[in-house]
Amino acid sequence: MNLLEATIVQPTQDGILVSCEMCGLSYPDSDYKALKDGRKLVYFNFMDQVLCHGCFCNQAIKYSDLTPKVRVTDKDMSFVLNFEDYQL
Ligand SMILES: [Zn+2]
Repeated sequence: MNLLEATIVQPTQDGILVSCEMCGLSYPDSDYKALKDGRKLVYFNFMDQVLCHGCFCNQAIKYSDLTPKVRVTDKDMSFVLNFEDYQL
């Protein structure tokens, strides 16, 4: 089975706003670093878009009849999210 691919957006520390392309949720880069380091929130690069966690899930389940699994890469580690039983 093929996996969809997503990568986690890394904080760049250049003061640029990190923003979800679907809902507009945005944080200054320094806040995003704190949120990401505290495992409160991450943004995803998925299907050529930067998405917040909520929008990423909503997008991912649209492809769940194709394959419910998404490989997520964060720097040098990766894990697989399974949306098989995900309910809206
Ligand atoms: Zn969003």
